[in-house]
Amino acid sequence: MTRARLAIHAHFYQPDRRDPFTGRIPPDPTAAPARDWTERVTDECYEPNAVRGNFRRIGWDLGPTLASWLRVERPDLHDAIAAQDDGSNAMAQPWHHTILPLASMRDRRTEIRWGIRDFELRYGRRPAGIWLPETAVDLPTLRICAQEGIRYTILAPWQAGTDGGVDPRRPYRVEVGGGHSLTVMFYDAELSAAVSFDPAATNNADEFVRARVLPRLAHPLPSGAAPLALIASDGELYGHHQGFRELFLARLTSWYGTGASDPHLEVGALGNLLGEASLPGLPVMTVRDRTSWSCHHGVLRWGAECPDATDGRWKQPLRLALDRLAAAIDTLTEALLRPLGVDPWAARDGYVEVASGYAPAGTYVARVLAESAGAPRTRPALAVRSRRAPAALLQDVLAAQSSRLAMFMSDAWFWDDPARQETLQAMRFAAHAARLLDHMAGTDLERTLVDDLSALHSPSTGADGAALYRLALEQVGQPAPG
Ligand SMILES: [Zn+2]
Repeated sequence: MTRARLAIHAHFYQPDRRDPFTGRIPPDPTAAPARDWTERVTDECYEPNAVRGNFRRIGWDLGPTLASWLRVERPDLHDAIAAQDDGSNAMAQPWHHTILPLASMRDRRTEIRWGIRDFELRYGRRPAGIWLPETAVDLPTLRICAQEGIRYTILAPWQAGTDGGVDPRRPYRVEVGGGHSLTVMFYDAELSAAVSFDPAATNNADEFVRARVLPRLAHPLPSGAAPLALIASDGELYGHHQGFRELFLARLTSWYGTGASDPHLEVGALGNLLGEASLPGLPVMTVRDRTSWSCHHGVLRWGAECPDATDGRWKQPLRLALDRLAAAIDTLTEALLRPLGVDPWAARDGYVEVASGYAPAGTYVARVLAESAGAPRTRPALAVRSRRAPAALLQDVLAAQSSRLAMFMSDAWFWDDPARQETLQAMRFAAHAARLLDHMAGTDLERTLVDDLSALHSPSTGADGAALYRLALEQVGQPAPG
């Protein structure tokens, strides 16, 4: 008899809380007794789970913004987590936690490439799976994933393109065009919701298995194969959102772990349980474009008036303002870097080594210039303000591009009010990018940005986006816009 299988996936993520002007996280009194929220969640969740070896026995993705912070601030913990990648349990994540179906095609590819390269630098292998931020998906995004060598991802069952529902006890194959396919595992919504939102369900791991898991897996698949259920959730619930649930996870995965004596259930990571051989034989499924796991209105939550928000009228003007800034930055990037003989987008894709902390900016920039040494150079058409050395110019343009990518982090739109720190932080990244380029090229990106932001208002305070922008800068000691 084949045992039923239970896969656990935990999505670990913290937004980049660093002040882009200094690279440091400002202290946050609301996170007391910790210095800031990244530290607080580290103490309550990442560290206790690492100490108990839980990362070894589940599937997980560790967001690059969080992983980069850990590598600098808690290097021992970072390495302890990385050492619990067994060669197939860890999944990659696009770098900035951007809602990819709302991003330009070029940004999607950069985010996915950055996520893959970050993973390689951190774990020393290519990732097979990728966790998409908020599981936000459409076919073009999946196609890029496949083109970049990704083989599987995880989605919510309501993202399947069928009215008949999916059987969440088996993986499917999604054809993404161009002869590419991806394996998609739709998680078990009932089990995942119990773990995420019902603390009483996870007081006792043995009871959880007996009362909730085994009944879901009692019957074999029509093919006779053993069923496979997947619990997917934010990783932070194990110890941060819900206290001591790292103990639940440890019990669930050790007592019932792979190779343990329990005759009924094998528990592990999706990457291990999927196996290699299965893709051609999987049933074919489609996905609903522009859907996600945390908004039941597609991806409206991150750009429009999602019915979940009391007043989401601020969300679209924010996205429009940042989209316009991004387009202007990209035009300037071309105008500044092409004359150097540099391919701006290849240079941006490679800049992940700097963003993830594996190469100093100066070293990376020197390498890019050396590699493009044979390319024809011209005088810049733009009146570049200073006669800056090419290395300094390239370094600042890439730093601006990095902040311009960071300003699209999903957190900025997730909550009910743009007066929250998540949205102010996106404004700080936008300011950093705009000011770098205005300084270099004598442009007025910041003025346009402030004008565009004034179209949105905080539902709670009534402050407009221009006032929030000034507040965001004031909080980190930056001068107000001119
Ligand atoms: Zn919604």
